[in-house]
Amino acid sequence: MQSPRIMLPWEDMPRRWYNVKADVPDLATPVLHPGTLQPVKPDDLIPLFPMEVIGQEVSQERWIDIPSEVQEVLSLWRPTPLHRARALEKALGTPARIYYKNESQSPPGSHKPNTAVAQAYYNKHEGVKRIATETGAGQWGSALSFACAQFGIECMVYMVRVSFDQKPYRKSMMQTWGGNVTASPSELTEAGRKALAADPDCPGSLGLAISEAVEDALTREDTKYSLGSVLNHVILHQTVVGQETKKQLAMAGERPDVLIGCVGGGSNFGGLVTPFIPDKLERPELRIIAVEPESCPTITRGRYTFDYGDTAKMAPVVKMHTLGHTFMPPRIHAGGLRYHGMAPLISALVEKNLIEATARHQIACFDAAVQFARTEGILVAPETSHAVRVAIDEALRCKQTGEPKVIVFNLSGHGHVDMAAYDAYFSGKLVDYTYPEESIREAMRSLPPVAP
Ligand SMILES: *Cc1c(COP(=O)(O)O)cnc(C)c1O
Repeated sequence: MQSPRIMLPWEDMPRRWYNVKADVPDLATPVLHPGTLQPVKPDDLIPLFPMEVIGQEVSQERWIDIPSEVQEVLSLWRPTPLHRARALEKALGTPARIYYKNESQSPPGSHKPNTAVAQAYYNKHEGVKRIATETGAGQWGSALSFACAQFGIECMVYMVRVSFDQKPYRKSMMQTWGGNVTASPSELTEAGRKALAADPDCPGSLGLAISEAVEDALTREDTKYSLGSVLNHVILHQTVVGQETKKQLAMAGERPDVLIGCVGGGSNFGGLVTPFIPDKLERPELRIIAVEPESCPTITRGRYTFDYGDTAKMAPVVKMHTLGHTFMPPRIHAGGLRYHGMAPLISALVEKNLIEATARHQIACFDAAVQFARTEGILVAPETSHAVRVAIDEALRCKQTGEPKVIVFNLSGHGHVDMAAYDAYFSGKLVDYTYPEESIREAMRSLPPVAP
C-alpha cells in the first residue's frame, strides 16, 4: 500500500515567491488611472496599497523573499498535501493518474490566506491600522479577517448582498476572526448609497463592493485597501501552491501532462500554474487549462481590452479579458467565480497561447463535485467544482484514448460553508445559464475610451 498523500516536509516550504514576468517577455501591460486614463505612477497607488506591495505589483525580479513573519503564519497549515485521487480514478475506470493540491486545509478553508497573510503583514509593517476590502462568496473576507487577526489590524468587509443573505455563516466566520462585515451596497459609502437609490433591492456585485471598499480606503487616513485576486502581487503570493506542487510531483516521480484550475479573478489558478510556465516553454505539449462558468465566461467570451476594475470606475483600468464592468451576475448562478474581468497576467498568458480556457455549466460542475465527494471524500467549494469537472472530463478522455496522462488540479477550497449551493443543486433549483452575447455587446459600449 502507498499513501495517497504526498507530504512535503516543513523545511521544504517555499521561502521565495516566483514572478513569471521574469521568464516571459511583455506580460506587463500598463495600468491606467480611472479618471485621467493615463498610466498610473506607483505614487498614485499609495493611498490604496503599502509600498512593498506596490513594488511587487510592478516587479520584474524572478524571486522575491517571503518575510519570516509571513512564513511563520503560513506554516500554521503549509506545506499542504498533494493527493493522488486513486478512488476517483477507479470509479472513472481511467488509465490517467489524477492529483490534486489540497488548499482547503487552511484555517478559512481556501487558498486565499496565502496572499491575505502577506498583505496584512505589509500593512502592519508600514503602520496601517485598518484594511477595507470586498468579498463575494465570503472566502476572501474570511481569509483577510483571519490574517488581520494574526497581525492585530482592523478589517472592514463589504460583502455582496446576495451572498450576505445566502451565506450567514460566512459572516459569523469573519466576525469570529474580528472582521467587521456589512452588506454591499451599503449606506456607508457614496457608491453604495447611489446604487441603493437606483434600486433598493440591488443584489450587489463584486465590482460594486470593490467601489465601496476603495472609497472607504481613499476617504480614511488610517485605512488601506486589499484585493484578494486579479493583481500581480496576489498571484505572486499564491505561487507557494505551484512551487510545492512541483516538488511533490517530483517526489512521486511524476511529470504533469495537464494542469487545471478554476478561475474567478485568476489567483488560485495563477498560483498553481505560473511556476510551471518555464516547463511549458520547454515542453509545449504540457496543457494548462483555466475553467470558468458559462454564466460568467470572462476568458472564453469576453473581449481582451482595457476596462475598469469596478462598477463605479474608481479602481484602476487594466487590460484584461472582460465582460464589461457593468456586469451583474445572474442571480441563479450558485458557483461563485463572478468577477467581470480576469487577472491581466492570466489574460496576457492566454494571448501568448501558454494557457487555454474552457467554460462549464453549473449542474455538470455539481455532478462532478458530488462524484468527487463520494470517492475522495472532500466536499469541494462550488468554485472548485469547475476544476473537478474538467479534471474528470480529461480523465474520461484518457479512458477513450488509453493514454495514462498525469492530470493535476488545484483543490482551491472546501464547501463546508457553501451548503446552500449544494442544497439548491439537490432540490433541483439550479438551472444552466449561458451568458447572452447581447449583454456582452451592450456592456462593451461602456468601456473606457482607450484603444485596446
Ligand atoms: C475565491 C475563490 C476562487 C476564485 O478566485 P481566484 O482568484 O480565481 O482563485 C476559487 N476557489 C475558491 C475556493 C475561492 O475561495
